[in-house]
Amino acid sequence: MSNKELDLRTRAAHSGSQTPTAVSPRPAVPPIYQTSVFVYEDLEQVDDIQEGRKEGFLYTRYTNPNHRGFELAVADMEGGGDAMCMASGMGAISASLLALVSGGEHIVAARELYGGTYGLLVNEVSRFGVATTFVDPCDPTAVEAAFTPSTRLLYLETISNPTIRVTDIARLSSAAHRHGAQVIVDNTFASPYLVQPLKLGADLCIHSATKYISGHSTLTGGVVVGSPDLIRRIRKTAISLGATMSPFDAWLAAMGLKTLALRMERCSSNALELAEFLSRQPSVTHVNYPGLKAHSQHELACSMMPRGFGGMLSFEVKGGAEGASHVMASLKLCPIVPSLAGTSTTTSHPAKTSHRSMPADRRAELGITDGLIRVSAGIEDIGDIIADFDQALSKA
Ligand SMILES: *Cc1c(COP(=O)(O)O)cnc(C)c1O
Repeated sequence: MSNKELDLRTRAAHSGSQTPTAVSPRPAVPPIYQTSVFVYEDLEQVDDIQEGRKEGFLYTRYTNPNHRGFELAVADMEGGGDAMCMASGMGAISASLLALVSGGEHIVAARELYGGTYGLLVNEVSRFGVATTFVDPCDPTAVEAAFTPSTRLLYLETISNPTIRVTDIARLSSAAHRHGAQVIVDNTFASPYLVQPLKLGADLCIHSATKYISGHSTLTGGVVVGSPDLIRRIRKTAISLGATMSPFDAWLAAMGLKTLALRMERCSSNALELAEFLSRQPSVTHVNYPGLKAHSQHELACSMMPRGFGGMLSFEVKGGAEGASHVMASLKLCPIVPSLAGTSTTTSHPAKTSHRSMPADRRAELGITDGLIRVSAGIEDIGDIIADFDQALSKA
């Protein structure tokens, strides 16, 4: 039947499906597949895709061409066999944990974790009969001592928040494997430009793609990278959980990834210069940045991160919360933003935001004092940023 013979109401309902599937010459940038479903030639094709005999698309909660483009790009940069993206970093973390642990099993985790991950382990995963022991990841003896015969996972972060400590992924991964546990590393703060955890022995590497991976504070997203076998298991769980990344966000994240190297180079050199400047200021009592020669983990950081030490640093000002508040309010170019890894330099106050719910004595134990300010160094001209900190500190 030619289209002309159909009623306008039918033609309207079917309009747009004449769009060619393959465009020649092809677009330089992949288009956005803003569709929830895909159309099948016949039932044989449905069988082939459902049974995994052929790669293809079915329904965007399962996968979508924009997801695949983004996933394969991150998998390539991390040196993994496959990847799966999700609607947020927490989506990727939840799906990975739920896919890999069962009731009665045990997790060993770094004690200084992203707040959302800590909450997930303590408030949610625990309700399914999975206990977590929190350890200091900088103390390998303590980590080893925490493994039990039921330990299934070791959960680490490459660089900790907000005290910017570096985790010896290679050493802890081999310890975990000796105890029969698998290793998940949240590599959000480092990005694959600086550290590739899978190459250091980790089994899975997770990102909040909201941060450096996408890099422009335009979306929330997450991605987990690992062997095809592990990703297949996580994908099955993730499809049930349903934290699907939107095709547009996957497309945006893939665009952001193109400039990852340039952004990481610049924010690393800016963070180092700012850390050096801050450590010379009389109103600053302490600077946390592994790129500083005086940092206790400088040697480990140099061997793990030969290209730079990342854009995250923190420093303590005199005068506690009041001192920090004064400095933060006086900064003109560096606003208070409770996230990180955008193109602009931003500040946050961990004790009042990310670590607010933590008891004050536990915060003190981790070095999260009331005068601690965290900085996410952007890609601006560093002279302008240092001048801004200079004027803000001189008012303090
Ligand atoms: C932001 C962040 C997360 C959570 O990611 P969302 O995209 O906000 O869900 C996890 N880990 C680290 C280290 C983060 O900074």
